[in-house]
Amino acid sequence: MCIFCKIASGQISAELLYESPTVVAFNDLEPQAPTHVLIIPKAHYENAAEAASADSTTFAELFTVAKKIAAERGLDGYRMTFNTGASAGQSVFHAHLHLLGGRAFAWPPG
Ligand code: AMP
Repeated sequence: MCIFCKIASGQISAELLYESPTVVAFNDLEPQAPTHVLIIPKAHYENAAEAASADSTTFAELFTVAKKIAAERGLDGYRMTFNTGASAGQSVFHAHLHLLGGRAFAWPPG
């Protein structure tokens, strides 16, 4: 079982910021911004593309949760990222939406 499946199922303890029957959100272990939250489907999909095609309703919920957390924190701008594939920086192969906020972001990203 992958690390995010263990968090989603409660086998590894994490401070959950949000939980629904299908999605959980928790703080990133190595935050890259004052807000750095990971929002994941509980079901295991290797990446965002797989999650989107397998369950578009749950995939859409990831964005709804990101919007809710950003609003709760009063973020006036934020970045949402799916690193998809190792060459794009994906290191955990369970689909996850990064919600980053609380500082300025450069474009293009590194
Ligand atoms: P990515 O590189 O897009 O696959 O993102 C994986 C993210 O998961 C990284 O930002 C890590 O810091 C984060 N991460 C890895 N293990 C944990 C964990 N146990 N709890 C919270 N975040 C984690």
